[in-house]
Amino acid sequence: MSAFRPFNDLLNVLFSPSCVSCGKTLVGDERFLCVNCLSQIPYTGFEYTPDNQLEALLVNTIPNVKATALMHYVKNECPQHIVHEIKYHNNLGLGKLFGRLLGSALSDSHRFDDVDVIVPVPLHLFRWLQRGYNQSRIISSGVAETFPRPICNNLIVRSRYTTTQTRKSHQERVKNVDKAFSIKRGSSLEGKHILLLDDVITTGSTVRSCYEALSKIKGVTVSVAALAYAGT
Ligand SMILES: [Zn+2]
Repeated sequence: MSAFRPFNDLLNVLFSPSCVSCGKTLVGDERFLCVNCLSQIPYTGFEYTPDNQLEALLVNTIPNVKATALMHYVKNECPQHIVHEIKYHNNLGLGKLFGRLLGSALSDSHRFDDVDVIVPVPLHLFRWLQRGYNQSRIISSGVAETFPRPICNNLIVRSRYTTTQTRKSHQERVKNVDKAFSIKRGSSLEGKHILLLDDVITTGSTVRSCYEALSKIKGVTVSVAALAYAGT
């Protein structure tokens, strides 16, 4: 036995990547999540389901909307841990991985085949500077790998600084993001089908507010995709 073996074992324990959900040390080909957590992700299957819960939530504001989310958001379980890791811990690899999974779901369903461009929901400049990145952009870059469409990053501008939506009631959320977005150089997307991409959709107030801005572009169609749906 090598004299360095105990030292190497200690290094392995200290620096081995662990599952972002349960904390177990990853083995073999596992990346970010262990096989057990990965197998427990509650995928929605919304991409295959016209009139799904998310579409029902949004259709009054966004006419004929097609909408999907990759998974149901479940508190204190794997989906929350994944979203938290992407949103607050700058886990780019995980964001891209789940973006690719969402992109595959969009491609496989063929319901979103006529989408022309992906538009990530923007962060306000202050929040972007504070966090250093926009999680919706990261997820979008993964989506575009398996659902190949151009990403239009600077179309919508978050013109008003809004506080976090996380602990707000439905009414507070609506008021918080009302008229928070505006459009920059929208004419290039006239007549296009835009896929608006967010990390988590709860009441839908953020995507509705983005739609209000996007609808000013002539002849535009808007669909919606998210990593997780937190509605009931
Ligand atoms: Zn795990």
